[in-house]
Amino acid sequence: MKKYVIPVIRILFLALFIFLVTNGKMMLWLGLFALSLVVAVLFGRVYCGYVCPMNTVMITTEWLSKKFKWQTDKTPKWLQSGKFAWVALVVSIAVMIFAQRVLKKNIPVLLIWLVVSVLVTLRYKPAVFHNLICMFGPLQKIFGKFAKFSERVDKPNCIGCKKCEKVCPSAAIAVKKDKKAEIETSLCFQCTNCQQVCPTDCIQYTKEF
Ligand code: SF4
Ligand code: SF4
Repeated sequence: MKKYVIPVIRILFLALFIFLVTNGKMMLWLGLFALSLVVAVLFGRVYCGYVCPMNTVMITTEWLSKKFKWQTDKTPKWLQSGKFAWVALVVSIAVMIFAQRVLKKNIPVLLIWLVVSVLVTLRYKPAVFHNLICMFGPLQKIFGKFAKFSERVDKPNCIGCKKCEKVCPSAAIAVKKDKKAEIETSLCFQCTNCQQVCPTDCIQYTKEF
């Protein structure tokens, strides 16, 4: 796939997201998200890598954060258990239902999440938001774990250079004790960042090696 194709796909979905949310059609976007969970079982978390508006705005935000040296490697302790994302999911759904049924209003919960994703990424690495805060993350992780097709490392050809680790937005790839990289499918966005920097071309989107 040509390099520019992925950013174009992301920008088109971001435009669709803004159009739907500003026109009170948030449920359509949530329907798209539900469909993406089925897709994840076959093709991995492509929603996160290509469709999610938060991931798209976070890419530019991370660039800014690095440029101005705001980014830290630290992860807030209170997030480390991973429970926050589940709480975020339950609270977000409760707020949406309450607003619609009781207040007869649409609270733009998804736009609020978009702002949160930017604010968090100004300070922390994207994986902090993706893996520990995002309300969509827990469900994508569960379904993505079973992905039939995914980015995978052809281990015999891996030289353990760790270039892939540095560009992964969700800390899904790591070089293990055997000095070979391994991808945690439940965390992988199928974004191809790692594939693009691998000097031995040992990362491929495939069913299995
Ligand atoms: S970039 Fe490629 S060769 Fe280097 S550690 Fe990652 S998978 Fe292995
Ligand atoms: S960089 Fe590689 S391992 Fe990380 S999310 Fe993208 S495709 Fe998956």
